[in-house]
Amino acid sequence: MVSDESLDKDWQDFANCLGVDPDLFFPERGASTREAKEVCRGCVVREDCLEYALRNSEKFGIWGGMSERERRRIRRQRALERQAALEVIAESQAIS
Ligand code: SF4
Repeated sequence: MVSDESLDKDWQDFANCLGVDPDLFFPERGASTREAKEVCRGCVVREDCLEYALRNSEKFGIWGGMSERERRRIRRQRALERQAALEVIAESQAIS
C-alpha cells in the first residue's frame, strides 16, 4: 500500500492503488484481503512494493499483494537462506 511516509517513492507513482480507498489495504482483523490483492495482481510495481515492505518491516496491511503473515514467511525464509549461506562460507574458510 502506498504510504506518505515512504522514503523511496519513485515506484509509487506507478502504483495500481493510487486513488483506491486505503481502508481496502488495511482490512479489519479477519476481514477479506481478496479485493486488495486483486488490485495488486495487476500492479507493475508489485515487486518494488513488496521489497519496500520487507525492508521496512511493515507490520500492517497488504503490500505487494501479500499480507503481513505472508511477508513474515518470506522474511523467515530469507533469514534461513542467509544463515545457510553463512554456514557454507564458514565451512569453506575452515577447509582452506
Ligand atoms: S502492489 Fe498493491 S499495494 Fe503495492 S503499490 Fe501495487 S497496488 Fe499498491
